[in-house]
Amino acid sequence: APDSTLPPQLKKLIRQDIQSMHAYAVQDSAGMVKLDAMENPHRLPAALQAELGQRLGAVALNRYPDGRVNDLRRALADYAQMPEGFDLMLGNGSDELISLLAMACDVAGGSILAPLPGFVMYGMSAQLQGLKFIGVPLTPDFELDEAAMLAAIAQHQPSIIYLAYPNNPTANLWDDAVIEKIINAAPGLVVLDEAYQPFSSKSYIDRIAGHGHVLLMRTLSKFGLAGVRLGYMMGPKALIAEIDKVRPPYNISVLNYECALFALEHRDVFAAQAQELVAQRAVLLDALGATKGVKTWKSDANMILVRVPDAAKTFEGMRARKVLVKNVSKMHPLLANCLRLTVGTAEENSQMLAALEESL
Ligand code: PMP
Repeated sequence: APDSTLPPQLKKLIRQDIQSMHAYAVQDSAGMVKLDAMENPHRLPAALQAELGQRLGAVALNRYPDGRVNDLRRALADYAQMPEGFDLMLGNGSDELISLLAMACDVAGGSILAPLPGFVMYGMSAQLQGLKFIGVPLTPDFELDEAAMLAAIAQHQPSIIYLAYPNNPTANLWDDAVIEKIINAAPGLVVLDEAYQPFSSKSYIDRIAGHGHVLLMRTLSKFGLAGVRLGYMMGPKALIAEIDKVRPPYNISVLNYECALFALEHRDVFAAQAQELVAQRAVLLDALGATKGVKTWKSDANMILVRVPDAAKTFEGMRARKVLVKNVSKMHPLLANCLRLTVGTAEENSQMLAALEESL
């Protein structure tokens, strides 16, 4: 409901649909085993953290971000093996890039389409921009519904189609043949969102170059820098040049880019952490699979979707045992009684499993 504490003269100034919205809620995680937001549980090794501290200590904070931001763009392009003829733009997290895209593509009659359940920001960016959002339900086993996707594309002619690869919260990759059909049918842009690429068995990076209307988005959040806020988007040069005009100047702080550059210099440390999490994911999937009453789905991300008999009860039981996961069961009818579990350290995963079993 609209906030009744806002004085009437201010109430008229704020859009009615925004007053009716709920703010993005971050769950209170103090003192909890935090497995709700797909963060990398590993901090930087102490020696590297100290070295980074030195680096940040030398950064000039009195100046606006400078050309060093271009060093980061080059380092990311190299890291991602960006195709020839492509360019890369930076966002304060990929959340910002999703908002900027909606702004840039706000043409009359424009719409944004994505499969559901999916990442909430796609719909939110459309709503905030006053664009129509078309959510196309996945099949009950969380695959793309090819016929429904193609029909919705033909009917709505969306300006942007988002395909998270792998998807959040279902953690799976899509059938490549279906993706190709969607790309070929799309009248507008197709954004492959590879936020979970560090844990994925596949990437679309090698296949985007042949298309003029496909963008690929990534983030350093799941890589291990969720606190730094650094997302990037790659696409054909001329297209990125237009979208980049919407970006606020200096959207990447001097501290953000210095941290990101440092992390890329030590990419092997982060790669080892990702590998460890992939190994933990397999252990966790085995254990969950052997737990009576729990249904699991395959995962190419650092999260596992499970279905339990009573998600609200299990979620509360786990929370009482100081383990925080995400109850996604109200997000979409297909997610009835589903919880999303982030893969943590071996120790965190054991605590999580124990709490889950006791709370079923
Ligand atoms: N895309 C997907 C699919 C996500 O799940 C998330 C974060 N949960 C993001 C993008 C946003 O990531 P960030 O803003 O931290 O870069």
